[in-house]
Amino acid sequence: MAEVVTHDLLILGSGLAGLRAAVEASRVSDGKLNIGLVSKVQLMRSHSVCAEGGTAAMLRPEEGDSFELHAWDTVKGSDFLADQDVVELFVKEAPREILQLDHWGIPWTRREDGRIAQRPFGGHSYPRAVLAVDKTGFFEMQTLYDTLLKYGNFKRYDEFFVTAIIVEDGEFKCITGFDMGTGRFCAMRAKALNIASGGAGTLFGFTTYSQTVTGDGLAMAYRAGIPLEDMEFLQFHPTGLVPSGILITEACRGEGGYLLNNKGERFMDKYAPEKMELAPRDLISRSMITEIEAGRGFKGPSGMDFLHLDLTHLGADKINERLPLIREVCMDFVGIDPVHVAIPVRPVAHYSMGGVSTDIRGATDVKGIWASGEVACVSLHGANRLGSNSTAECLVWGRITGEETGRHAMKTEAIPNVPDDKVENERKRVFDDILKREGRENPYELKRELRELMDKHVGVFRTGEGLKTALSSIVELKKRFARTYVKDKSASYNSNLVHVLELENLLDLAEVMVAGGLAREESRGAHARRDFPKRNDEDWLKHTFAFWTPEGPRFEYGEANITTWKPVERKY
Ligand SMILES: Cc1cc2nc3c(=O)[nH]c(=O)nc-3n(C[C@H](O)[C@H](O)[C@H](O)COP(=O)(O)OP(=O)(O)OC[C@H]3O[C@@H](n4cnc5c(N)ncnc54)[C@H](O)[C@@H]3O)c2cc1C
Repeated sequence: MAEVVTHDLLILGSGLAGLRAAVEASRVSDGKLNIGLVSKVQLMRSHSVCAEGGTAAMLRPEEGDSFELHAWDTVKGSDFLADQDVVELFVKEAPREILQLDHWGIPWTRREDGRIAQRPFGGHSYPRAVLAVDKTGFFEMQTLYDTLLKYGNFKRYDEFFVTAIIVEDGEFKCITGFDMGTGRFCAMRAKALNIASGGAGTLFGFTTYSQTVTGDGLAMAYRAGIPLEDMEFLQFHPTGLVPSGILITEACRGEGGYLLNNKGERFMDKYAPEKMELAPRDLISRSMITEIEAGRGFKGPSGMDFLHLDLTHLGADKINERLPLIREVCMDFVGIDPVHVAIPVRPVAHYSMGGVSTDIRGATDVKGIWASGEVACVSLHGANRLGSNSTAECLVWGRITGEETGRHAMKTEAIPNVPDDKVENERKRVFDDILKREGRENPYELKRELRELMDKHVGVFRTGEGLKTALSSIVELKKRFARTYVKDKSASYNSNLVHVLELENLLDLAEVMVAGGLAREESRGAHARRDFPKRNDEDWLKHTFAFWTPEGPRFEYGEANITTWKPVERKY
C-alpha cells in the first residue's frame, strides 16, 4: 500500500504561477492552511527563472496608456480568439501585481525620475513591459519565494515527480508520484489542487524551453478527463539563438534592435511597415521564414539558416545596462559580442497558448481542481500571445487561483479519501510495467524522432499534408513507446524512468496538437496553414476542446467570448 500524505491544498508546480498562488492562499487563510508545494526540480530551477524581458501592465494613464489600449492590443494580438471578458479582467489586475511585487521588494529597473521603468514589446502600442533588467523572471521568483517564507504553513516537495491526477465522480481525490532521490512512491491528498506545471515546449527540438518543460500537468489533466483547449496554437518566438535555440529576448528589439536579411535590409518594412520589429510574434516569425525561404537568409548549420538581430548601433552602455544577460549568453554560447557583431537568430518554439481549460477564475470542470500559469488556458492569449503578457498572467491568475483554492480549502471540512485501487494501479503502471519493461525501443531515440517531426511538419507554416504525416508518425511512435525499455532499474535519481514518463506525456500532447491543427482549416495567429491561408471567422472563430479517449483525442468546439471588439483584419 502506498504511503498517503495529507494537505489542505496542493500546488503542482513552483514556478511563477505556483509561488504566487501559494502566497495568496497563505494570505487569505492567514497562514492557517497546510500547503504542499510540489516540483520535479529545485524551486529556483523552475522554468520561470528564465523569463527575461518583462511583465506587461498598464501603469501610466497620464502618459497615454489605458486599460482599453492594453486590452485591444491583446485581443488584436490574439487574432480575436481571446475571451474578451478574460482580457478585461487581466488588464485591470496586472498593475496591482506590479505594485504588490514592488512592495514585497523586487528590484524593478527604474527611470531617471525614480518611477518603475517600462519598455516597448511586440504588438503593444505603448511601452508597458515592466522589467528587472533582462532577468525579470528570476527576480519575480526570488521575491515571491522570499515573501512566502514569511508564512510557515507550507512544505516543499522538491524533486518529486508527479505521475497522475486522480479524479473520481467528477471530484479531485489525490495526486500520485515519487520522490526522485529515493524512489519512494506516495499519494498526496488535499481539498484542492492547483495545477501550475508550465508548458510543453520541448515537443520541439529547436526550443527556448528548459529540458524539464515536458507538459506533464497538461497530459495528466487530459488523461484525468479535463479537456485541453486550443492546443494547436504554439508560439514561435522570432529570435532563437542559432544553433542552440536559447531565447534572445524581444526586449532587444524593444530597446531598438533591428532584424536584417543577407542584403542588410530591415525587411520588416515589407510586412509590418508601422510596427516593424515590434509587430506581434506570429507575424514576425512568418516574415522571417519567408525571407529565409526566398534565399535572403544566412547559411546556418544543419539547414538552420538564420537572419541577423543587430544591436551594434545601441552601443555598449545601453547593452550593458538593459541587456546584460543577452550579451553574456552570446559571448558564452556563440562566441560573439553583440556590442560589435549581429546575433544569428531564427524562429523558435516558445510558448503554449493552449492548455488545461478553465473558467475565468481558473477553475476546471472537476470539483477541487484549478489551473494557473502557462499550463492553463483561461483563454487570455487566443491564437497568439503578446510578449510580456505571460508572466503577468502567471501573477494575476496565480493570485486569483490562490485566493479561490485558499477559500475553498478553508470552507471545506472533509479531505477526500484516497482511492486505493487507483493509486495501486498507478504504482504498478510506473514501477511494474514501465520500469521493468524489457522492450527494444530506445526512448531517447523516440524523443529525438518526435521532436524532429514536430520541427519539420508543425512549425511556423503548416500544411494539411504535413500535419497528416506528423499525425500518423505520432500514432506509430505511440505504438513503439509500448516497447521502450528503461535501462536504469534503480530507485535513486532514475532519470531514465523520468525521461520515459515525460516522453509518454509529450506523445499524448503531440497527438492533440497535431490533430487539432489538422482539423482547424484556417490560418489564425500562430496556426498558419499554407493550404488555408486566410482567417475564417465564419467557421472557426471558436475554441477547440480536446477530450481524452483510448483511441485518441475527441474534439468539441465552443464560441469565443466577444464582448467589445469585433474581429477586423490585423494590420501592423
Ligand atoms: C526563455 C524564456 C523567456 C521568457 N521570458 C518571458 C518574459 O520576459 N515575459 C513573459 O511574460 N513571459 C516570458 N516567457 C514565458 C514565461 O516565462 C512562462 O510562460 C512562465 O514563466 C511559466 O510559468 P509557470 O509558473 O506557468 O510554469 P513554470 O515556471 O514552467 O513552472 C512549472 C513548475 O511545474 C513543475 N512540474 C512540471 N511537471 C511536474 C511533474 N510531473 N511533477 C512535479 N512537478 C512538475 C516544475 O518543476 C515547475 O516547478 C519566457 C519563456 C521562455 C522560455
